[in-house]
Amino acid sequence: MCGIIGISSNKSVSANIINSLKKLEYRGYDSAGIATLSKGLINEVKSEGRVDNLEKNFDLKNLSGNTGIGHVRWATHGKPNNVNAHPHSSHNVSVVHNGIIENSTLLKKYLVSKGHIFKSQTDTEVIVHLITENLKVSKIQEAITNTLKQLHGSFALGIIFKDMPDLIVGARRGSPLAVGYGPNENYLGSDSYALKSMTNKITYLDDGEFCIIKKDEVHFFNEEGKKINKKVLELSLDQKKYDKGDFKHFMAKEIEEQPITLKTGIKEYLNNVNNDINIYNFPWKIEEIKSITLIGCGTAYHSCLMAKYWFEELTTLDVSTDIASEFRYRKNRFKKDTLYVFVSQSGETADTYAALDLCNKNNMKTCAIVNVIESSIARDSNFILPIHCGPEIGVASTKAFLGQILILYILALKLSSLKKEIENKIYNEKIKDLKNLPFFG
Ligand code: GLU
Repeated sequence: MCGIIGISSNKSVSANIINSLKKLEYRGYDSAGIATLSKGLINEVKSEGRVDNLEKNFDLKNLSGNTGIGHVRWATHGKPNNVNAHPHSSHNVSVVHNGIIENSTLLKKYLVSKGHIFKSQTDTEVIVHLITENLKVSKIQEAITNTLKQLHGSFALGIIFKDMPDLIVGARRGSPLAVGYGPNENYLGSDSYALKSMTNKITYLDDGEFCIIKKDEVHFFNEEGKKINKKVLELSLDQKKYDKGDFKHFMAKEIEEQPITLKTGIKEYLNNVNNDINIYNFPWKIEEIKSITLIGCGTAYHSCLMAKYWFEELTTLDVSTDIASEFRYRKNRFKKDTLYVFVSQSGETADTYAALDLCNKNNMKTCAIVNVIESSIARDSNFILPIHCGPEIGVASTKAFLGQILILYILALKLSSLKKEIENKIYNEKIKDLKNLPFFG
């Protein structure tokens, strides 16, 4: 799952799309591309490899158009090559897509029978032809509503139309997508970080929603195609947090930021006056919790494995851990007295989100330990414990891992004290140990 950017403006957009794609490079990708609308045409350029290749292979300065979409791809269907790179276009629609269309084989068969000709091996291309097909009988809004209903799987989409020179459609199911607001222009991005250099005013789409973006207006719709109102959030403007500074790469910077991560976490969660842990707004009675399941992917899963020992040592809770991608396919026996804890740096990890969604649908108690508090996992959990470590751009997690295990440890300690399962003396010693870490000023 990789990156999307879209801009509708009163001036040429290709330079800003390229800059934003470069911001998304930290995620790792195999190809990149842009499509703009100008003079009644869709101009599509794409290349295997880095965004630099795209710049080398095409004269992007002369790629005109005040509306456009861009993508960095992480192939799931079809080789990473020029043809499979996004955007994918028909004669009247161009699409960028993050995610996986699970019924693409069936849809392709249907579309081929209707005369559509496919150029790539991707699942994404079915979306292009499906919209083109639906546009034969309905207007954009209805064609999008119907198309989204026909798609199974996960997606964040950016779509432009040959006949609508200033319009971008964004749609989301299972993959994050945000709208940004600027002067005489508006944006679409799979990641608020990519939009940060242009705006700090953001609206996150929720699952099932889509939006229509023009340079001076944005409208949101639910999955039935009904207009809805959404909040605009103002993100912190502290650009320094997002810069590499003098460090060679983000990972080096983030390793240096580990002490401050501990210091901030301890300051936020430990009450300096009464030795208590500042987790007061717990939404359940403590007697209601008899077991805990810690869920994450990759690094976050490893922080769960580590924390299992602490929960076992400090509490009498039954503790289990699970990899989110396994959890969602297991025959789960959901239990009312279990607290399900979801750990994720970005708060957007697709499998972790799907596991949370499954718990929510079964009315379980859910808690998020995340870094990005505006993220989907944070927004959809009953209770959030933020990591407070600042943006982590490096792909190999460093300070966020440390932040996760700190918060998990503090949560284990808090539950043991609420359940009166730890002697006061030991509890105070453990709090003192945390406060005595050399980083705490
Ligand atoms: N499934 C699509 C493809 O293979 C999108 C991959 C992505 O999220 O970058 O092209």
